[in-house]
Amino acid sequence: MSFDSLWASLRDVGRDARSGGYRRFAWTTVDLTLREWFTGEAQGRGLSVEEDRNGNLWAWWLPPGHKGDPRGAFVTGSHLDSVPDGGPFDGPLGIVSAFTAIDLLRTDGVTPRVPVGVVAFSDEEGARFGVACIGSQLSTGAMQPDRALNLTDGEGTTLADALRKTGRRPEHLGADPDLAERVGVYVELHVEQGRALDLMNRPVAVASAIWPHGRWRFTFCGAANHAGTTRLADRRDPMLTFATAVHDARTRAASHGAVATFGKMRVTPNGANAIPSRIEAWLDARAADEQTLAALVDDITADAAARAHLDRTSVVAEGESLSPAVLFPDGPRQRIRQALGAEFGQEFGDVPVLPTAAGHDAGVLSTAVPTAMLFVRNPTGISHSPDEYAEIADCHQGARALAAVMKDWVT
Ligand SMILES: [Zn+2]
Repeated sequence: MSFDSLWASLRDVGRDARSGGYRRFAWTTVDLTLREWFTGEAQGRGLSVEEDRNGNLWAWWLPPGHKGDPRGAFVTGSHLDSVPDGGPFDGPLGIVSAFTAIDLLRTDGVTPRVPVGVVAFSDEEGARFGVACIGSQLSTGAMQPDRALNLTDGEGTTLADALRKTGRRPEHLGADPDLAERVGVYVELHVEQGRALDLMNRPVAVASAIWPHGRWRFTFCGAANHAGTTRLADRRDPMLTFATAVHDARTRAASHGAVATFGKMRVTPNGANAIPSRIEAWLDARAADEQTLAALVDDITADAAARAHLDRTSVVAEGESLSPAVLFPDGPRQRIRQALGAEFGQEFGDVPVLPTAAGHDAGVLSTAVPTAMLFVRNPTGISHSPDEYAEIADCHQGARALAAVMKDWVT
């Protein structure tokens, strides 16, 4: 299967030698290398490649004699960027499986009657500019170009400048008016980011829904002072308020049956012998429905405010992004389950249907086009970590499953 050589060709790109994790951030030289890789693999297969106005890459396998723009296509793919020290599977598995599925169909002598597209969405993880799914959100119109262009990375570089530096035209960003016509269905294959399939002892599942989720920035302010000479009673230490908020968030998440995580913080002045004056921290919260999510964040904010009062500090919480719940439509899901049942029924029986608490471009696209997702077993459930792992045999099953779904759709 061509999967193995495709997979090997990505192994070293953007890998940090010390952590063993990947640092594939949007519009960096590593990102440009990944984009070249995508283009090379597509062109090597005789697929035409285009970069849309938002930096998303599309490769097209068109029916024989097809003229003009692709319409009503079967599109599959994912993203190539990563979180800081991410694993190798989150994103690239979907794109490598997409190319592999095309190879499998061609080996079988299949010619598509409708166009097949492979897409690599730009900046899915939001690792550099702090907002996830920028490429797909711009294309569906969920994010306005002005907002995107003014986002800054840790060094203060705006997305507009980062785009300019790589020869892109920031003024071109915006909603893609052809998206709904071009994409008949978008099926994203992704490594599972939990252990549900492992617990069921099954290699592949179909997605039912994505939990609503969002990011909130909490700014805790106090007073900087000497770590040695300031009496405890005199301190106004925002780190203390923050530490309590981290703990309370965990307790509140458990009581709501949800998850809440403070995973990123910035300390001012960030000195080992100074009480900080200011902590900025980012809360990631996710729940089964939007009311629960809102109640969870309200509770965490109220807890932090109460604690700030005790500590004589202050706290402000601001929403940075909110992704509503996604219910993947029944039609494509049922069709996929039927196709997989016909292909693998003997081996695996009915394909499981799972929700996920992880965001994906497929969720963003679901507002514009029919979407579906396939998940491949992750035996440890670990993701967004150098330890993220999937068995190669399961990856092969995933690629075979995607090929079966593709064949069902395009022949
Ligand atoms: Zn992903």
